[in-house]
Amino acid sequence: MFKKILIANRGEIACRVIATARRMGVRTVAVFSDADRNARHVAMADEAVRIGPPEVSESYLRGDRIIAAALETGAEAIHPGYGFLSENPDFVAAVEAAGLAFIGPTPSAIGAMGLKDAAKALMETAGVPVVPGYHGESQDPAFLAAEAERIGYPVLIKARAGGGGKGMRLVEEPARFAEALESAQREGKSSFGDPRCLIEKYITRPRHIEIQVFGDAHGNVIHLFERDCSLQRRHQKVIEEAPAPGMPEAVRAAMGRAAIEAARAIGYRGAGTVEFIADGSGPLREDGFWFMEMNTRLQVEHPVSEAITGLDFVELQLRVAAGEPLPVRQEDLAIDGWAFEARVYAEDVAKGFLPATGTLGHLRFPAGAEFARGPLRIDSGVREGDTISPWYDPMIAKVIVHGPDRDAALARLDRALAGCHVAGTVTNLEFLGALARHEGFGRGEVDTGLIARDLAGLAAVPAADPRLDAMAALAALDLLDPPPDPDPWGSLPGWCQWSHAERFVALLRDGAPVEFAVTIFGPGHFSVSSGEAATELRIAALEDCRFKVESSGRIFTAAVACHGDVIAVFGPDQKSAFRRPPPLADMAAAGPAGDTLAAPMPGLVTRVMAAAGAMVSKGDPLIILEAMKMEHTLAATRDGTVAEVLVAELDQVSDGMLLLTMEAADG
Ligand code: ADP
Ligand code: ADP
Ligand code: MG
Repeated sequence: MFKKILIANRGEIACRVIATARRMGVRTVAVFSDADRNARHVAMADEAVRIGPPEVSESYLRGDRIIAAALETGAEAIHPGYGFLSENPDFVAAVEAAGLAFIGPTPSAIGAMGLKDAAKALMETAGVPVVPGYHGESQDPAFLAAEAERIGYPVLIKARAGGGGKGMRLVEEPARFAEALESAQREGKSSFGDPRCLIEKYITRPRHIEIQVFGDAHGNVIHLFERDCSLQRRHQKVIEEAPAPGMPEAVRAAMGRAAIEAARAIGYRGAGTVEFIADGSGPLREDGFWFMEMNTRLQVEHPVSEAITGLDFVELQLRVAAGEPLPVRQEDLAIDGWAFEARVYAEDVAKGFLPATGTLGHLRFPAGAEFARGPLRIDSGVREGDTISPWYDPMIAKVIVHGPDRDAALARLDRALAGCHVAGTVTNLEFLGALARHEGFGRGEVDTGLIARDLAGLAAVPAADPRLDAMAALAALDLLDPPPDPDPWGSLPGWCQWSHAERFVALLRDGAPVEFAVTIFGPGHFSVSSGEAATELRIAALEDCRFKVESSGRIFTAAVACHGDVIAVFGPDQKSAFRRPPPLADMAAAGPAGDTLAAPMPGLVTRVMAAAGAMVSKGDPLIILEAMKMEHTLAATRDGTVAEVLVAELDQVSDGMLLLTMEAADG
């Protein structure tokens, strides 16, 4: 076994690989960009090497610097994770040329599957069923249009170099073909540097079912059953599960055989996934699935297969890369229970799933295993206080559950998602929760169109819970902190023994003011009204910012997080999040008399317009910050001289970080 490996990745997958390496006694080297100096993967590794500025093209895609880092630190092998360089045959060749082992397949196996058209042609020869279509050489629009007619509409145009759901266009009628082809080619060119496309029959009611495979250097190839990844939004996976609902044993065996044939055809070594599209318009059939593509790496959703097989796939990857034979045979494997994975992202569901950034001022997961099998498993690359920056994938965590059967696992998923408390950025947690409770999904009626069909219901913002809003108002007024004294006559801020004290506060929900009036009846006993409605609450503090709340004869537990100007209250099923006024403009002037300039939100410094010693006038733009896809100009709040500029252009800054100081005002 290797003594030391380098992980050429970041985020949750880097942490996940490090966790297994550590368990196996293998030392780890992380690499990081300037934006990731304080990231979790750096903290988890035994040592870490800086590889460049935040841009991926200058850091995580710099194979030369990564290989140099491995050589300098004495690492013997490189684990690529997923994304970045994981499926780049030139990188793998360079790793091997440097005398290092690559924890993954050979360059030729990656190359054979790298382009979807060549991969399909190869699979056809190997006798694996492929989606009917055209994957030949010609790119002549008229010829391709004729092919589309031959295949029969609807058809799917795919950029052959595409990935991550990009470069695909569904065409339902011939009149739209030319335009769709052009746009798929454009996206292929701009995203993957290759405009060439193939055409496929669009399978109606498609299900995405993929088979996990593993090969070793001794000619053994096994499959580790299927995953159903049909819950997708814009061809990107949202929730995955294993096994697939309604999978007959004969179809499972046929798909497993086809996947093994696919892997054997390219002499596959390591972890891989053979993706099939299946006809989901009726029960799954042995002649109703077709090869789509092979992903020659460990996949994002691998933990659901680990859950049902009891194996650690990163351990298998390390063993196989070190030349050991696979420690399990096909006949040793059996499916144990059911597992789901939900991908938790910082994204704004209401704004069309726009990726979001922010500092995770509060981040709590329900108790579970980390990077290891269990009824609940959390794989996360961030900790409380970390920032989701605009540079990389805004994933917060993967929530993985395992239960004895599908219903039990799904119920566990719903509870686990409700128990994930994130403040400081918007997330897709409510959306994932709505999916976990979706009736059709609950019955196992999955297809890739489910989310789009029911999007309005799934993305609907639940009506605010007045009890949670009331808790936020109490938190804003400091009436929850310190916790109520167990002595009933103890002091509580605002508590007056002789009359019922009244307090008022205005908070912002999605930028709109909400006003609250609070009547304090006694310690931990309040009435909070907003508009017409009044909510009476009795509150007792528990440990760790949690409170026992009684209202209208119901008792529940709520967690309260106050961080910066954010106040978030997490109830059993939903949350209420507010910001405190004052508005942004006032916040730029932190510190007494505007002597300092602080970042009003996490973002990227795109321009610095003042240097130390510069004389500035009130209102002069000093720094431009890009955050949430917008530019924010931070201006001088008074006339004076700049003492020190603490940031440079392209610095990633966190919420409240000091950016600039002014010399003390005269006299
Ligand atoms: P999975 O099937 O495991 O969900 P995805 O296709 O969603 O895999 O991709 C997993 C990761 O790899 C994502 O971070 C995605 O952005 C990245 N990725 C996939 N294909 C490419 C590609 N061709 N170029 C760069 N990154 C890619
Ligand atoms: P990527 O490399 O982006 O992952 P895939 O070829 O794996 O591209 O396709 C991504 C998704 O697009 C699939 O999971 C499936 O939902 C949908 N899809 C792909 N091919 C077809 C098809 N022929 N018919 C219907 N849906 C398809
Ligand atoms: Mg795919």
